[in-house]
Amino acid sequence: MKPSLVVVSKGKSPYSTTLTALRSFTLPNLKGKNVLIKPNAARMASPGDGVTTHPLVVEATIDLLRERGAKEMVIGEGCIFGVDAQAAFEKTGLKGVSQKKGVKLIDLDQFEPEERIIPDGKLLKKIKVSSALNDFDWVISIPVMKTHMHTRVSLSIKNMKGLLWRREKAKLHQLRSNQRTDPGYKTLDLAISEMATVLKPDLAIIDGMVGMEGMGPAYGRSKEMGIIIVSDHALSADAIAARLMGFNPEIIPHLKLCSERGMGEIQPQKIWIKPKDYLKWETPFEPPPSTLSISYPDVVLYDEGSCSGCLSTLLVFLQEYHPQLNRYHLEDKNIHIGIGKHLKTCPEGIILVGNCTAGMKKRGIYVQGCPPVSSQIMKILSQKKRVLSSNPSWDI
Ligand code: SF4
Repeated sequence: MKPSLVVVSKGKSPYSTTLTALRSFTLPNLKGKNVLIKPNAARMASPGDGVTTHPLVVEATIDLLRERGAKEMVIGEGCIFGVDAQAAFEKTGLKGVSQKKGVKLIDLDQFEPEERIIPDGKLLKKIKVSSALNDFDWVISIPVMKTHMHTRVSLSIKNMKGLLWRREKAKLHQLRSNQRTDPGYKTLDLAISEMATVLKPDLAIIDGMVGMEGMGPAYGRSKEMGIIIVSDHALSADAIAARLMGFNPEIIPHLKLCSERGMGEIQPQKIWIKPKDYLKWETPFEPPPSTLSISYPDVVLYDEGSCSGCLSTLLVFLQEYHPQLNRYHLEDKNIHIGIGKHLKTCPEGIILVGNCTAGMKKRGIYVQGCPPVSSQIMKILSQKKRVLSSNPSWDI
């Protein structure tokens, strides 16, 4: 069997580096095809921050696809819960690209949901996706080269999670871990590998112009790489991206699980990579923290089934506001904070962060959001009147 081809291109300009990579790759005939371009634009971030896909990468993709005869192209994204899609499209520069190139930009969450059955799903039997997908013959995933606190890397397979319908995205983070018994994998890894069986991109263009290391996907450090990776074998593209980030693709759980399902090759020696000496561009990324420890002696965290959203928000919140939190100490002189969908036991007076904790909100100060931003947590806290008594009232 012919090995999958992955093209790696290095340069300074996001536009020309993307064109160079795409021109080195033999794309299929796209005449008459309707193409969905799925960048990562799910958060409020500016181009070049390493959080969202650079608009010039999307622009180069549109220009090249037009050359190759694509009939219609649409840019589509479904933002993380709580992010205003139109504001994110503006901030990430995608709205500008859409206007400049005359390509429609759609919020995938504005369409009806549609169920897709996952054949042989161990964890997921079906998932809800945006029904907008029915309009397309071809899907291009254009993620940013990033580390991820829960999945180690976030690349073209993981980027397809934005095609899930609204809260279905968060649901993947909330599945109970006892549904998976194999060691070494998180439930989320398995969920992504099963999602990928029905949401596999036809082409991956990985934007590694500026990636993100450490506490990705949103709170790490930006990392300049000047790399674009292209392949019609998304899993192989992700494996090579991981390799360039300094990680062995075989120890990235969701890549390994996808490969075990026969979805593609992840061993670099079995992939046809252009150029062969691509590793001259390897630049190790700081790995994501293996545990998100809250290293404040007076903070007690109750985390039952949270996802990266609330965990990372909490870390940022504490970095920014910890010195102002003295008045939220309980009688034991600690600040108690709860996150996650499965939270069951926690003390009266706890600070409950995120929609997942709504069921416990009578027990303390509840901050809505999925996740709430750190300034919102502080705003709600300062609006609440703390009454330390046997029968506290947490509302204003
Ligand atoms: S509320 Fe927090 S833990 Fe729950 S899904 Fe949203 S971000 Fe994740």
